[in-house]
Formats: sequence, C-alpha cells, structure tokens
Amino acid sequence: IIECEEATAMTDCIFCKIIEGQIPSAKVYEDEDVFAFLDITQVTPGHTLVIPKTHVANIFEYDEDLAAKVMTKLPKISRAVRRAFPDMLGLNILNNNGQAAGQTVFHSHIHLIPRYQGDSDGFGWSFADNSKSYTAEEFSARAAAIDSALAQEEEA
Ligand code: 5GP
Ligand code: ZN
Repeated sequence: IIECEEATAMTDCIFCKIIEGQIPSAKVYEDEDVFAFLDITQVTPGHTLVIPKTHVANIFEYDEDLAAKVMTKLPKISRAVRRAFPDMLGLNILNNNGQAAGQTVFHSHIHLIPRYQGDSDGFGWSFADNSKSYTAEEFSARAAAIDSALAQEEEA
C-alpha cells in the first residue's frame, strides 16, 4: 500500500504548496524545520496540523534527525493550543500512516486534536480489547518479531 502512496510528487503536494505559500493556510507556527496550521475540517476547535518542511510521505520515511526536529516542537505547540483554547480538557496527538490508517494527504503530518466536553467535540475512536483472543505464545512471538526486526533496522 505504502509504495504507491509515496508516488505523490513534491510538486504535486498540497502541503508543500501550503509551506511555500502557494495555497493559503491559517498558519499558527513556523520555524526552520516545521510548519503548523489549522486543519481545514476543524474536527474540534483548534485542530492543528504540524508538518515537516521536508517532504516525507509518512513515519517510515523519517530519519532520526528529521523526527527530532518535528517531534521536539510538539510540546510547545500543544501548550499554545491549550492556552488559546482554555475550554480544552485534553489533546489527542494523531499521525495516520498509509491509506489503511486513514491517511489522505501523503505529506506526513501530526494532528493535534483538542478535546472538549459536549457537542463541540467531533472526534471519536475506539480501541478494541483483544486480550482474550491470543495465546501467551502468540503474544510473545509478536514482541519477538518486532524486536528482531528492530535489530535488522539498526543494521541497515
Ligand atoms: P489525514 O487524513 O491524511 O490524516 O489528514 C489530512 C488532513 O488534511 C485532513 O484532516 C484534512 O482536513 C486536511 N487538509 C486537506 N487539505 C487541506 C488544505 O488544503 N488545507 C488545510 N488547512 N487542511 C487540509
Ligand atoms: Zn509535501
């Protein structure tokens, strides 16, 4: 799935165009590495997207340096959103990777979704509890698979 999505050319990318100012946006923050602006849908009031200025399609394309540059900005932008929206009771930080995960724009972006009480809150998700549906062996095998894949990742 990921391969075909990565085909989005930078010249074709709406978020690259937003960074360049070719498409207008409600900018909330910008520095050398990062651009943040209001998501047009405003799932809840203050819903903000934080994007790297370097075009990467998804989390799988970040190197550690780019990840650090983007992720280290999240706490201060989050606190600014909270300060600007004092009714905010919580904040979900969400990053969709791949169509199957709900990604629709293939320039990586972090959603900051303020959470409120009552009708102004347009966000929902569910976490299934499948803890009854696997054996202890299957559970350990899943951890071992990721652990050994990580060793290969570090060799690469
Ligand atoms: P995804 O579904 O890929 O995680 O999120 C893409 C987000 O980009 C959506 O929430 C959508 O509302 C937002 N979006 C798409 N096009 C534009 C645009 O032109 N301007 C802004 N501000 N947001 C956009
Ligand atoms: Zn882009």
